[in-house]
Amino acid sequence: MSYVFHRMPKKTLPVAVAGDGIEIVDSAGKRYIDASGGAAVSCLGHSHRRVVDAIEQQARQLAYAHTSFFTTEAAEALAERLVVTAPAGIGHAYFVSGGSEAIEAALKLARQYFVEIGQPARKHFIARRQSYHGNTLGALAIGGNAWRREPFLPLLIEAHHVSPCYAYRDQLPSETEEAYAQRLADELEHKILGLGPDTVAAFVAETVVGATAGAVPPVRGYFRKIREVCDKYGVLLILDEVMCGMGRTGHLYACEEEGVSPDLLTIAKGLGAGYQPIGATLVSDRIYEAIVGGSGFFQHGHTYIGHATACAAALAVQRVIEEDDLLDNVKARGEQLRATLRERLGDHPHVGDIRGRGLFVGVELVLDRASKVPFDPRRKLNAGIKQEAMARGLMVYPMGGTIDGRQGDHVLLAPPFICTPNDVDCIAERLCDAVDAALAGT
Ligand code: PMP
Repeated sequence: MSYVFHRMPKKTLPVAVAGDGIEIVDSAGKRYIDASGGAAVSCLGHSHRRVVDAIEQQARQLAYAHTSFFTTEAAEALAERLVVTAPAGIGHAYFVSGGSEAIEAALKLARQYFVEIGQPARKHFIARRQSYHGNTLGALAIGGNAWRREPFLPLLIEAHHVSPCYAYRDQLPSETEEAYAQRLADELEHKILGLGPDTVAAFVAETVVGATAGAVPPVRGYFRKIREVCDKYGVLLILDEVMCGMGRTGHLYACEEEGVSPDLLTIAKGLGAGYQPIGATLVSDRIYEAIVGGSGFFQHGHTYIGHATACAAALAVQRVIEEDDLLDNVKARGEQLRATLRERLGDHPHVGDIRGRGLFVGVELVLDRASKVPFDPRRKLNAGIKQEAMARGLMVYPMGGTIDGRQGDHVLLAPPFICTPNDVDCIAERLCDAVDAALAGT
């Protein structure tokens, strides 16, 4: 009997008692390779010495100081590091405690920006179907995942949705990447025109889609075309890199590869690598200056924004990534992981797609490869794979085919950036076994 209100109360979960590099150890002494970093969080694995030392030092010196009274060295140093490396135009970092809070802050910043510059009619947010931006009411409202939204619909602000960029399913055989990207940009333009261009505040999208679809990168040129449409109508571009940012794709910011700068950029999971809860909304100079030069302050705030210990942890994480050249490892191990999975599962009758960037890898499973028809969601194949993987000492992040019945079950892999070639082989081996076991009898 557990007194903790867990996410899935009926399930008995193993008790995690220790972390050791890429592994978590439970109370029975069983070890699990954390091949999903939890939910793409633990990018340095567990119990990393330099991060733990930094946390200890900050907690001893000053654990927390409320931001209406003080800034701290840790917050200032972290903000500088993030901004200096961020896409062009980003000038400031607003620290929060996680991904949903980062999105809420982005939505409110976008809205306040338009109020400050005398365009209060801009109130609409457009996002994509099949998207997830968090579970708080604002973040859930813009998300396009019907299953997550449905029970809460009466409480959600109205949001608008366009098609995701999901080449495996939606790019027509006759269509080039360029033509597919253009079709999606045209759809966004059509949506903006339909709503009235002067009423749209922002378009929100994940640069590389994470949990809802399993590491789906955009086709080349997609975000450049989207940026053009946004600029044409004065609509802000909010990129959600809560999951795909902070090195996960092999680049500090995933949008670097797209050649696009957003107006607001949300980051979280890999920022603090799970050592402390922290997220951030990175803000363009344009928005910052409009607010500072207008009412003078952002009408928002939480008790723990800019938390000193959380900032110190994130700063240490980011320093380790740089000092140990981990982004190179992310690129190399990511290539290795996809190549190994393609070798082992490329001809598998139920593996539809193996995709991703860096150490952000998705495997989509389908009933039939040719038609791409998914398994019946009631079969809960993804949950079966998770269970078989856990039995083999492997953590993977599963998601079901809940989107309009069009999407297959998938597993998301997001191993720590410190993983070795041997670790990658071991992850691939255990995952393949788990997939076969879960599919046995299909
Ligand atoms: N945006 C994205 C893209 C996410 O993947 C998540 C978390 N899975 C969130 C936002 C919400 O983050 P959090 O759970 O930290 O609130």
